Amino acid sequence: MNTETNREPTNQEILDILQEECAEVIHAISKCRRFGLDETKSSTESSNRQRLTEEVMDVLAMLDWAVERNILLDDIPDIVEVHFPAKRESVRRYCAYGDSVNA
Ligand SMILES: [Mg+2]
Repeated sequence: MNTETNREPTNQEILDILQEECAEVIHAISKCRRFGLDETKSSTESSNRQRLTEEVMDVLAMLDWAVERNILLDDIPDIVEVHFPAKRESVRRYCAYGDSVNA
């Protein structure tokens, strides 16, 4: 890669890379579920937990860039204070519903 021609990504490229990083998170989660969080292929490689953490950090980095570009809304404090607890409650309801369906 020629670093002398570095340029800022377009908004479309930010979305493309965000999409790719989300897919990498999906892949990393699959490895964690199949082989366990602490599995490593060799003593020199990182664990599935480490790879998942790195991929989530990649997604967070791209989300931050998307906010900076105004691709996403920038009221992050509201998202953390309002959306995060609401999402957890939604997931808890979904889990309880799943339990009732599978009972
Ligand atoms: Mg990645």
